[in-house]
Amino acid sequence: MRYVVGIDLGGTNIVVGTVAEDGSELVGLVSEPTLPEQGGDAVIGRIVKLARASMAAARGREISGVGIGSPGPLDTKTGVVILTPNLGWVNMPLRDRVADGLKLPTVLDNDANCAIYGEWWRGAAQGVSHVVGLTIGTGIGGGIILGGEIYHGASDVAGEIGHMTIEANGRVCKCGNQGCLEAYASGPAIAARAVEGIEAGAKTALRQYVAGDLSRITAQVVYEAANDGDAFALDVVHETAKLLGAGVASIVNIFNPNVVVICGGVTQAGEQLFGPLTSEVHHRAFKPAWEVCRIVPGTLTGTAGVYGAAAVFMQRTWGAC
Ligand SMILES: [Zn+2]
Repeated sequence: MRYVVGIDLGGTNIVVGTVAEDGSELVGLVSEPTLPEQGGDAVIGRIVKLARASMAAARGREISGVGIGSPGPLDTKTGVVILTPNLGWVNMPLRDRVADGLKLPTVLDNDANCAIYGEWWRGAAQGVSHVVGLTIGTGIGGGIILGGEIYHGASDVAGEIGHMTIEANGRVCKCGNQGCLEAYASGPAIAARAVEGIEAGAKTALRQYVAGDLSRITAQVVYEAANDGDAFALDVVHETAKLLGAGVASIVNIFNPNVVVICGGVTQAGEQLFGPLTSEVHHRAFKPAWEVCRIVPGTLTGTAGVYGAAAVFMQRTWGAC
């Protein structure tokens, strides 16, 4: 049995594990804060150190290579990260730097692509051909899997689902566009919509959840209040479901996937989100498309990116995973 090291590089944490080629085993799962303010060399040093620690925990096993999932945009052919505001990198040759450090063949792909590929390989979207996924956190990432392979488009930009326009004259997004899905349904956007409602005089117990300090309201606090039955918090969750539903309905009509998988903290909202989200998609999309499509939360909490990065190496090197 061959093994592959999967590296999930995020703005906050680096997570590394060593994965069996049949996905049956994940060993040496290690993690450390990314600390991007210390600079690129320090971050790459930390990635190499964590990969060595993971491989040491997997000792005795044959290690064939390394897959890295990184924030982008990036070039999967040259292995260069073109730009990442979160890490402060411009034209970083990440793949080759890690390959040099570990003396192993290495591949690079987008972090959200890897997370969705992980869910397809070993998580909530197993056993189907066509999957589109969203990773909802501080931003909204996305990945498109068609016929069991990640769809990259002409220049590795495909899958930026968070930057689908859902409101032509809407909120300004960090990407510079107006009305992106991310500007409405990311974690911080959900919190911002709640705060705006409170400031406009909404009747809610949300203030009490944060001792009156509205800057401490997060999406998680909104879900908690919704679960406790707060009507305004429930409205925010249902509005989020409607906005996400508009985006997912477009995905369902355009790609006709078997599964739409939604990953990240937003899944904590559970049925309060997924129920209205699914109804919204049924209301908006073509019936032959939504009839065959399951909309599900991701199941590989914290490890989807590691599984997916390893699977990307296998797919590109061996033609299958
Ligand atoms: Zn955007």
